[in-house]
Amino acid sequence: TTAKPAYKRILLKLSGEALMGDDQFGINRDTIVRMVNEIVEVTRLGVEVAVVIGGGNIFRGVAGGSVGMDRATADYMGMLATVMNSLALGDTMNKAGLTARVMSAIGIEQVVEPYVRPKALQYLEEGKVVIFAAGTGNPFFTTDTAAALRGAEIGAEIVLKATKVDGVYTADPKKDPTATRYSTISFDNAISQNLGIMDATAFALCRDQKLPIKVFSIFKHGALKRVVMGEDEGTLVFA
Ligand code: UDP
Repeated sequence: TTAKPAYKRILLKLSGEALMGDDQFGINRDTIVRMVNEIVEVTRLGVEVAVVIGGGNIFRGVAGGSVGMDRATADYMGMLATVMNSLALGDTMNKAGLTARVMSAIGIEQVVEPYVRPKALQYLEEGKVVIFAAGTGNPFFTTDTAAALRGAEIGAEIVLKATKVDGVYTADPKKDPTATRYSTISFDNAISQNLGIMDATAFALCRDQKLPIKVFSIFKHGALKRVVMGEDEGTLVFA
């Protein structure tokens, strides 16, 4: 094939839950291997890949798991959970023949090297996959916001938000059989129709930076590659 990818550099946001597979929590081996194989496919196209992974499969501070806890403390636990997921993801990538580098937003140098922007840029230029761990490094934020922030910082052309559903629908497709998928939607329309695409902070940052978001399913085989090729897969949110 002579078709060229639509993007040179992407920021892929994976939720922690995506690692669970059919398990109740934690990391499902087959699931993480399958996800990494999808990523291998796009690196073969010569696309530079940076990843932000959540921690919801291990601990969520912002919502549920932290009832009764000091919010900031719970959020730091959530950030540490993303470090574990990042290590698992990096390890799986290295075994799949990629070279992954994990960089942490909070200092834990014996485990993970710190996030240093020029270094991250260098790794990407060298064709390494960079995994941004510990979210933004700040409580009261989410890894969606980390994805928007790092995406903007590294000059990614798009944030790819991997979800369970293969795009943004007019209604919940599980409840409403007449729901249809938006192929594209503007930031303004998404706001006026109250479509929860990313958390509000992340969404505002992407919108301000005119950084498009593509929502797609990481579980649909080949979907990530089709997204990177600029095909009509998932939903593109544009400025
Ligand atoms: N978190 C945080 N600041 C950040 C990113 C994450 O405090 O910049 C915490 C927050 O408590 C969050 C948890 O880490 O609930 C896990 O991240 P997230 O909920 O985004 O994970 P996902 O839903 O994608 O699995």
